[in-house]
Amino acid sequence: MPDQSSEFPFRLRQEYLSPSEAAFYHVLLELVKGSFVICPKVALVDLFFVSRPNENVHQSTKLVRRNVDFLLLWKENLKPAMAIELDYLKQSDHRPIDHFLDGLFASAGFPLIHVTVQPPYDTKELAKRMRSALNKKQDTAPRQADFSPICPRCGITMVLRFDKDGPFNGQKYYGCLNFPTCQETVAVG
Ligand SMILES: [Zn+2]
Repeated sequence: MPDQSSEFPFRLRQEYLSPSEAAFYHVLLELVKGSFVICPKVALVDLFFVSRPNENVHQSTKLVRRNVDFLLLWKENLKPAMAIELDYLKQSDHRPIDHFLDGLFASAGFPLIHVTVQPPYDTKELAKRMRSALNKKQDTAPRQADFSPICPRCGITMVLRFDKDGPFNGQKYYGCLNFPTCQETVAVG
């Protein structure tokens, strides 16, 4: 008998996927025929990172505790290929319509398609939409501008500063965390 007052009050959920998710998983499995690895219910924080995190602190909370229903990985290198989100006919019964998800995937240049839960699925149409999404995949490699600069002297991440009368003449710039010991600065590029 589990002790209810234990400091580990955790129990296994008896179902991982909902019946709709499980049914669609089998459709997807048949469709991709081993070309992709299918990951159901993937946490957004495992798929995306916030660029320049010390400037976009509040943005990271938008990813927390959020999932996308299915992520396909290329079988050869296990890198993300595309994502699929299930929409429900009566969406409000499940969760609110999610504009954030579309904006997130679009801004990161990573393909996402929505599939309405309405079996039986038209697998030909679905395959066509998936191919089209995969073809639209953009260059998703992080750019240097996605990261805050590293102090050339101390080797630590620099922080965004604003100095009204400083050398950057009222503009934002990067300063070293070790200021005033270290006076290194980098212009915001
Ligand atoms: Zn420094």
